[in-house]
Amino acid sequence: MNKGEVVIEPADASAPGLSTTAGSIFKIIRDLGPLFPADIVRRTGLAKSTVSVYVERLAAAGLIREELRPGGKRRMLKVAESAGYVMGVGLGQTHLNVGLCDLEGDVLDSIATDVDLLHETPESILSRVVAAARALTARNALAPAALSGIGFCLPGPVDYAHGVPVSPPVMPGWDRFPLASALHREFTCPVFIDNDVNVMALAERDKGAAAQDQDFLFIHAGTGIGAGLVVNGQIYRGAKGAAGDIGHIAAGPDQVLCHCGNRGCLEAVAGGRALAAQAAEAARTGASRYLAEGLAQGLAITPELLGRGAAMGDEECLRIVITAGKTLGDTIAKLVNFFNPSLIVVGGGLANLGERYLASIRESIYRRSTPLATADLIVKRTALGPTTGVVGSAILVLDEIFSHTNVGRLTRPPSA
Ligand SMILES: [Zn+2]
Repeated sequence: MNKGEVVIEPADASAPGLSTTAGSIFKIIRDLGPLFPADIVRRTGLAKSTVSVYVERLAAAGLIREELRPGGKRRMLKVAESAGYVMGVGLGQTHLNVGLCDLEGDVLDSIATDVDLLHETPESILSRVVAAARALTARNALAPAALSGIGFCLPGPVDYAHGVPVSPPVMPGWDRFPLASALHREFTCPVFIDNDVNVMALAERDKGAAAQDQDFLFIHAGTGIGAGLVVNGQIYRGAKGAAGDIGHIAAGPDQVLCHCGNRGCLEAVAGGRALAAQAAEAARTGASRYLAEGLAQGLAITPELLGRGAAMGDEECLRIVITAGKTLGDTIAKLVNFFNPSLIVVGGGLANLGERYLASIRESIYRRSTPLATADLIVKRTALGPTTGVVGSAILVLDEIFSHTNVGRLTRPPSA
């Protein structure tokens, strides 16, 4: 982070004592609310009077509100979802989504536009993001101060602490582009930048297949292949932000050259581009009757068409899909042995290759992992839609600004 630019401290810099208690209570309400004060007493083990004090402070800071239980007289506590707003930005190869979200990470309004990440300059895309964010605040009649933060995800490695992309292979001109500080200058609120796979994992944690799972892996299988690691409910980014970059683990024969310069990378043998090339070959040679017919009809030979062929029972399509699932599963098995997650969620375009693909991934993981690691392991497909990047980016901001430390600071009485 540039000095003096972004004022919120990272979530892991939790201070002891008062701020941690306020933050913990707020997190319980955020994760599990609406709930009764008695539920918080039970979960925290704190005295009823102590919980009351912190609940009052959180309410006075505008972070939570009371809600009457339907048909009942008792009041429950929940996040004051309209006490502030966050902007979630999802930048992809061809799409830009900007969404205005409430404090529960639900999208209230959004603007989607096409982009060409390979050919547009960072400045041009930044100005489009700013214009969309301004349009959203204007048409929802929000004062500039109502924006509590901006989260931004992009398809490449990110130096999280400094809010800059680092040598993203599919984003020419973006290396070290000062994205967070530029957005902070425009909107003055805290800005957090992360890679898209990490924020998708956050969306899975709060809104998707991993609801309430604290140790899981999100695998993004598309043109590139990456993993988001959630450890104790938090994204694990590693020393430099490169954790989860599994696309270049050696997974295939040496004669397959990867765009990174190495050979046999997972992405080069089982990523979207590799599958499209294998499908095109099968169409051209006639090894797949289904794909050859598609080619003759002028259809684009894509992974989607390959998945449809597999679903129709075309043998060559099935072989390609099952082999790709096995290759990915073999790599995931190594991660399972190392990390012992309770859940693996598979997302990205290739997750739509169908049930045989998922089954092949599952079989490889179970065959190649230790019995203890796979005893209760669940492998499933994402249930989230195309706004995952926006929702995950909003959650990224919420995690940071509502961290223990920062909630503690907001709720600390003036005398403390
Ligand atoms: Zn590679």
